[in-house]
Amino acid sequence: MTAQKPKLAMYWAASCGGCEVALANIHEAILEVDAHFDFMFCPCLLDTKKKDIEALADGEIFLTLFNGALRTEENLEMAGLLRRKSKVFVAFGSCAAYGGIPALANHHGIASVLETAFCTVPGIDNPERLIPGTSCQVPDGELELPAFLSRVLAAHEAVQVDYTMPGCPPEPEQIIAVVRLVASGAPLPPLGSLIGCNDRAVCDECAREKRNKLAPRLIRPFEAIPEPDWCLVEQGFSCLGSSTRGGCQALCPAAGMHCTGCYGPLDRTADPGATALATLAAAVDSGSAAGADEAVLHARLRNALSGVADPLGTFYRYSLAATVVADRSKEAE
Ligand code: SF4
Ligand code: SF4
Ligand code: SF4
Repeated sequence: MTAQKPKLAMYWAASCGGCEVALANIHEAILEVDAHFDFMFCPCLLDTKKKDIEALADGEIFLTLFNGALRTEENLEMAGLLRRKSKVFVAFGSCAAYGGIPALANHHGIASVLETAFCTVPGIDNPERLIPGTSCQVPDGELELPAFLSRVLAAHEAVQVDYTMPGCPPEPEQIIAVVRLVASGAPLPPLGSLIGCNDRAVCDECAREKRNKLAPRLIRPFEAIPEPDWCLVEQGFSCLGSSTRGGCQALCPAAGMHCTGCYGPLDRTADPGATALATLAAAVDSGSAAGADEAVLHARLRNALSGVADPLGTFYRYSLAATVVADRSKEAE
């Protein structure tokens, strides 16, 4: 009799599906996943039902890759269920790790989020301004939708996370390395570790040359075509490579696009947005401070940073859920 393979689950909560695409993007290495694991739960690929998971013994799933933030009661319930049924629970991708892009909604009230999504975004045709409720009576009975949580949470705010694998999404090479490590039976890193990344900054992996120049001001991506090979932040683009954890081999700068910080902050104890802001403020030439009073310096700095059109989305794009400015939804209401 062949020994049973360890069970592998992948789940999406408030997710865009890109983390699943990243898994598919490991190409033929998916055969290694199949060789080593019984890939038994993944709602976008497999027809396993929630009741099948409920029927498992606690800890029967060896590894769960949980992606997406927690936006709804269903997300929260599934995080708790999969945590209970899994030996190793990985917050996979920056939405699960830090709240990701869904957590930017925490600076808006739920009513405003729903109004925007269902009534006002361009392309919506909803003249009656219908907004889905949590329950709806139809001829065949009552339809239910899970309610929103009062704010979007990162996975670790709700359940114990064994490992965190950042990235939006994690890079295929990093996924393969993690799968091979787990499959090898080698000792796993200490609980609580970040995996699939390293301790260096994206700048350390970037081939663009730093010429020790300050940019006159920050510019938006459409304002210029970046010069090849030269550091983007020195050209005025809002590249967050120096404050972002490496592991992607500086993928975006290599393609001429500034790093938006998807691997999360280098320093897990610091406020990621404040660090990113300080990094960019130091990269622009706001003039000599000698003899200038505070108000003048302030105005100059504001002007230099005016190319940041969306400060929250620039500095906290992936990390808002668990920061000091995490939740302003009540004020927004
Ligand atoms: S981390 Fe990125 S790719 Fe993964 S679910 Fe979130 S937004 Fe999508
Ligand atoms: S700031 Fe951006 S472009 Fe410049 S070296 Fe760092 S990662 Fe590369
Ligand atoms: S360069 Fe930055 S935004 Fe791009 S993949 Fe790497 S960490 Fe993410």
